[in-house]
Amino acid sequence: MPLRHLLTRLFDASFGDGPDARGICYQLDGHLHVSAPAFDSSLATIPAPAFAYDLSQSRSDFINRPQDRWWKATGKHPQIYVCTQSCRARCTFCSTYLIHGRLVSRPVALIAQDLDFIIDEHGHDSLQFFDDDLLQHDELDALMELLQRRRIAWSCNARAEFMTPERARQMFGAGCKKVFLGVESFDQRSLDYYRKGTTVEMNRQAIHALDDAGIAVVCGYIIGAPHDTLDSILADIDRMLELPIFFLSGSILTPDIGSVEFLRARKTIPALRLLGDGGSDFNLKPRPELFGAGPPYGLPTVCTSLSKAELNELYELAECSFFLRESTAERVTRLSPPDQLELIAEWFQWNTARAEKLAQTARLDIVRERAAAVLSGQPHRPASQVPAVSPLPAAFELGA
Ligand code: SF4
Repeated sequence: MPLRHLLTRLFDASFGDGPDARGICYQLDGHLHVSAPAFDSSLATIPAPAFAYDLSQSRSDFINRPQDRWWKATGKHPQIYVCTQSCRARCTFCSTYLIHGRLVSRPVALIAQDLDFIIDEHGHDSLQFFDDDLLQHDELDALMELLQRRRIAWSCNARAEFMTPERARQMFGAGCKKVFLGVESFDQRSLDYYRKGTTVEMNRQAIHALDDAGIAVVCGYIIGAPHDTLDSILADIDRMLELPIFFLSGSILTPDIGSVEFLRARKTIPALRLLGDGGSDFNLKPRPELFGAGPPYGLPTVCTSLSKAELNELYELAECSFFLRESTAERVTRLSPPDQLELIAEWFQWNTARAEKLAQTARLDIVRERAAAVLSGQPHRPASQVPAVSPLPAAFELGA
């Protein structure tokens, strides 16, 4: 509603008037207009077809559209779709519930009509559910039955707490190919700090349940909590590497503006006040000129014992250690369509280059040692003790 108001009335004298304008903050003729937050739950009621981000005007448009990143791909002509809004969890680094308010689910009867349009009229062969957590849909079983009937491939985001072997098998039977699982950590102290509401054991079981069912797990993984140390992060990486994960989506804890993490960080990092114009709370935004352009972009990190540069080295090490191992290569080959293998080979080559750079230039000794060991195919042994061999898993030698 506010977006429609912006698009239709931005240059009109009535701009800012009426219920559609709730939630819009703006400055006009020197006057600041600040609105209280407004939540829109029309997802539950707007008639079909209603789906997100349809960029295609015709069948040829989407056929010629650039393909998705290989690790997200579920079909040749995917459609992004959202049928829930917000999340019942309250993770400290996340702002979804601040933006969207309470959880809203689109009724399955309306989703069925959306799918008729997406599949039958537009010819899409796969769906990417962009919901924060699809498993929180109020009619999840009915939704799974609908997806099974429509015989379409799909992927979604999910929390570990809702995943059981039965649920994973049900999802696979309904066409699920990939799940982005918001695991975040295998250290209970960090999960508790993030108020994740999950345990390390839940995370492990969810990953195994999905993998056993044949669903590729994209693992959301965060390092750099305030209490993290070099040893705790290395131990967490080792725990992560034991698990049957398809793709690692790593990040460094970010005090995202507006989140609980941001409010926490403001107490310990006074410089965060510089994010707003003139030290105010207006126009808060990342400031790369102050906090650097490395991840997290334009923001400081919050870990007390490691610098942003050191955390970036560990983040790179986690990814290289994950991708440059035989079990990842085997899983990626098995769960990816053959026409993606060339792209995947390039990905592995890029990770090899990352590991080589780490092995030569990382400021942390242990990162240089581990990166060299990863390249040698014998992780966790000091570089001086291992012979140099081909750095790339055999399955991904380019041109092989
Ligand atoms: S489970 Fe995911 S979407 Fe929900 S609050 Fe946590 S990070 Fe945000």
